[in-house]
Amino acid sequence: MSTGTDTAAALDARATRSLVDPFGRTITYLRVSVTDRCDFRCFYCMSEHMSFLPKKDLLTLEELDRLCSAFVARGVRKLRLTGGEPLVRRDIMVLFRSLSRHLASGTLDELTLTTNGSQLTRFAGELADCGVKRVNVSLDTLDPQKFHAITRWGDLSKVLAGIDAAQAAGLHVKINAVALKGENEDEIASLMEWAHGRGMDLSLIEVMPLGEVGAERVDQYLPLSLVRSRLAARYTLEDSDYRTGGPARYVRVKETGGRLGFITPLTHNFCEGCNRVRVTCTGTLYMCLGQEDAADLRTPLRASEADELLQAAIDEAIARKPKGHDFVIDRRTKQPAVGRHMSLTGG
Ligand code: SAM
Ligand code: SF4
Repeated sequence: MSTGTDTAAALDARATRSLVDPFGRTITYLRVSVTDRCDFRCFYCMSEHMSFLPKKDLLTLEELDRLCSAFVARGVRKLRLTGGEPLVRRDIMVLFRSLSRHLASGTLDELTLTTNGSQLTRFAGELADCGVKRVNVSLDTLDPQKFHAITRWGDLSKVLAGIDAAQAAGLHVKINAVALKGENEDEIASLMEWAHGRGMDLSLIEVMPLGEVGAERVDQYLPLSLVRSRLAARYTLEDSDYRTGGPARYVRVKETGGRLGFITPLTHNFCEGCNRVRVTCTGTLYMCLGQEDAADLRTPLRASEADELLQAAIDEAIARKPKGHDFVIDRRTKQPAVGRHMSLTGG
């Protein structure tokens, strides 16, 4: 016979059960795109004239907190806020501050963000104060003109000042650079030397076919297998088992003493070890960056003040997490793998 107490016990059991997908992968990492808006327009991420989500569709900061906390209750140990540009969302520090309670209680190992760095001079100190230890800053070139051409709207000097501010605040900075054919391919070694010289790791990323950006992906795509072999001709790349819980595979560069990561969704699919899911600023859960299937978490979140409906929707979605993506970039494939831009789901 089912009693009220039984139901409470069942809910309790669910709330402490970890999230395991049909392929036995445990979900411990949540990335949350807190806004799809951005103060840059990187040509590989967005088209020149983007339309953004209506502000009324966005989850409030309180709702984002509740959503993140529901995942933390189910065993998520790492939270990354991203976007769009997370630091342009109004009052975003309120969310960092409130989520930091999970660090204090020990239920969360890491609270972090991916940023274009433009707002770090303003926020670095406060981020450190909220328990953020590491930050990923996306930077594809150190050439001011090229930077402006890639980001369309960005100012390199602001990003460099932001990196200075982050390091001064005691944050560990990792630089992320998308390897772009004909744009920064000749600069990768110097970008690496610069990053390592400042005590920062560098991760290289292959461009992914996400969203229409008004250009052929094949003209942007530079396989990291090629970049790696070029670097290996100049540097000693020593295999490393260093991991940060994300998809990067690292080597140690003997000559610089720094770490170099490779994020290779195209040349080496890393889906078998995927521990991640992503939520957008409207509460849509994407179980895979490279697939269209999604679950609406906003409706169950708003339907009840308690979390049962939300947790049930999360369970249902995780049970559908696909095995992996099937990105293709070649002359014959004109369609993006998925219609949404990277700025919606976040990196
Ligand atoms: N605005 C922040 C930033 O640029 O760091 C956070 C969001 S941005 C979408 C996250 C990362 O995704 C950045 O490192 C960016 O370079 C990368 N990115 C954007 N579009 C991409 C694409 N089509 N393929 C691969 N990486 C992409
Ligand atoms: Fe903005 Fe980041 Fe996309 Fe560039 S990569 S347009 S900074 S969201």
